[in-house]
Amino acid sequence: MPELPEVETVRRGLEHHVTGRAIEAVQVLHPRAVRRHLAGPADFEAALAGRSLESARRRGKYLWLSAGPDALLAHLGMSGQLLVGEPDRPLSPHVRILFTFKDDGPDLRFTDQRTFGHMCVAADGAELPAPIAHIAPDPLEAAFDPAALALRLRARRTGIKRALLDQSLISGVGNIYADEALWRAGLHWARPTETLTGPEISRLVAAVLEVFTEALTAGGTSFDSLYVNVNGESGYFDRSLAVYGREGLPCPSCGTPVRRDPFMNRSAYSCPHCQPRPRRARW
Ligand SMILES: [Zn+2]
Repeated sequence: MPELPEVETVRRGLEHHVTGRAIEAVQVLHPRAVRRHLAGPADFEAALAGRSLESARRRGKYLWLSAGPDALLAHLGMSGQLLVGEPDRPLSPHVRILFTFKDDGPDLRFTDQRTFGHMCVAADGAELPAPIAHIAPDPLEAAFDPAALALRLRARRTGIKRALLDQSLISGVGNIYADEALWRAGLHWARPTETLTGPEISRLVAAVLEVFTEALTAGGTSFDSLYVNVNGESGYFDRSLAVYGREGLPCPSCGTPVRRDPFMNRSAYSCPHCQPRPRRARW
């Protein structure tokens, strides 16, 4: 599943290859891809034909391209890709939406094998589309406010990992980045949020930013080619993970075997030495 750094890489690719261009036509090839566009596929196509795409923005794992006052909003789901390429290349059976442009240049294909991703047009959503207005800013956005997050974390009686995954508190942090950031900050995933000190929260926010920035640096090269791609598991994960998916392997800092705990039908990975379990744990 693409996480924030992969989605940011796609956003940069769109900014480079698509913004400033006028759409000629839109073809919805699978209605499920526009299921959140409640007026239906024909309306989606008509709403975008002839429009110019002016900017590419992102909040958490959502992307949007502005079209006048409106927004073309996208979520890549589990397997979604936005591919830019020459219009005469073969059409894969997984292409769900095809955008062609008035300049007859490269087209844009929303490709999604599992069809969990979707697109919709959000009226008057150029600045912030209404369907995602309830989502908190992510740490890479200018609107992100660490002090406000600290206040809300302490007011929320939950475990810190659960809080990190709560998109109404902070967006864009998935399971992998939560475990990696908590390890870097030396915090156990079940630490009750109301017991976190100011310096601990600052350390955690800095760690989230660090893992995002490193992942962007490692995975942010594909947009140079005429191909915008996201495949969920960037090379960053193979090389740089300290604890995620590494049960029983030595912690890179102290050598203690990494522990895996069940967490929300998934797992939480941590180092028992660097991230001591709190006396009162909450998950
Ligand atoms: Zn350790």
